[in-house]
Amino acid sequence: MTTEPPVRASGAQDAAASGLTDPFGWLAAAARERAHAGLTRRTRPRAHDDGLLDMAGNDYLGLTRHPDVTRAAAAAARRWGAGSTGSRLVTGDTTLHGELETELAAFYGTEAALVFSSGYAANIGLVTSLSGPGAHLVCDRYNHASLIDAARLAKAAGARVSLFDHADAAAARRALAAHPAERSLVVSDTVFSVDGDLTDVSGLARACSDAGAALLLDDAHGLGVIGDDGRGALSAAGIAPDDRGGIVATATLSKALGAQGGAVLGPHRVIRHLVETARTFIFDTGLAPAAAAGALAALRVLRAEPRRPERLRSIAHRLAAGFRELGLDASTPDAAVVSVRAPSPDEAVAWARRCRDAGVRVGCFRPPSVPDGRSRLRLTARADLDDIEVKRVLDVVGMTRPT
Ligand code: PMP
Repeated sequence: MTTEPPVRASGAQDAAASGLTDPFGWLAAAARERAHAGLTRRTRPRAHDDGLLDMAGNDYLGLTRHPDVTRAAAAAARRWGAGSTGSRLVTGDTTLHGELETELAAFYGTEAALVFSSGYAANIGLVTSLSGPGAHLVCDRYNHASLIDAARLAKAAGARVSLFDHADAAAARRALAAHPAERSLVVSDTVFSVDGDLTDVSGLARACSDAGAALLLDDAHGLGVIGDDGRGALSAAGIAPDDRGGIVATATLSKALGAQGGAVLGPHRVIRHLVETARTFIFDTGLAPAAAAGALAALRVLRAEPRRPERLRSIAHRLAAGFRELGLDASTPDAAVVSVRAPSPDEAVAWARRCRDAGVRVGCFRPPSVPDGRSRLRLTARADLDDIEVKRVLDVVGMTRPT
């Protein structure tokens, strides 16, 4: 996205004077309304060497600049080109995609995997391909936007969508029982992206197997972070590969794996169905070879250095405990995300800005990413932070807090 020029009120006036209705005349009023609510958003290019301590990105394991990862990505670009040139079903498939899928499935403990151009596309493709008219989707009310959009598309195609209370497996069970359907699917994030809290994966799995429903889990913030050596939420919940028949997970390659892209991880028959029916697979250009190679190299580093996820989690805990000692309202991290409550959307933005001025980049969430009244700073722990950096983050966030 390019930086927007200032809004010119005269655009609408010019159009009105010429007797034509300005088709985008309403945008200025909508922008004013967002500004009034403290919800203006801008892209802001970051300098690669701006000297800020980054606590806002999703490079949880510190792998995006790992020499093995960047070397593999560069070599793939030289060999295959900067892009994949087409859909995976036409020209966009390479041996790298297949290798990545095989190794991802083996690591995650599923029969198969399918790589998409993003986690967003993986979620949309999976949910829409497995639903359809008469299906019943039972969704956590705090699901990620990509799952919400997927449910909206499924609904438009004739599925029923029910929402259940956040992370409440008993509520999901009741929703399944309320509307028995030939195809029922429970859909949830594993680690929720805003607060970093975990759903009840075992409870959802039991509710689904009792009801003959499928369980679709978005493990974007779980892969590489939780579970045995970072094997994700199913591993963390102790669900053995043999018990995963009705469970399908999605992951992103853009967080712990430091690259770009998404994946669906599940049984062979589901993956085959996706190859033939998922519109975000069929009609989307395949993942760039450099991204596939980068993710594959990152996965290999993770397997060779299995202590990275543990260090990441311990840093998240130290941050949360430190914030609480400062009297801040910090979440209890189940994974890498630590959030700190801000009094209002405006104060969240101003607080994040003060942190940046003091040398630490933190994220800031406000409506519509989070419900009203739940604006917050969002910090992501990284496995490659040292003790001095952890202390600096605590000092800066504490010193710049709203008065
Ligand atoms: N699911 C969750 C829970 C996420 O946080 C994100 C990324 N913000 C996605 C899916 C989308 O993944 P990607 O960025 O690879 O499209």
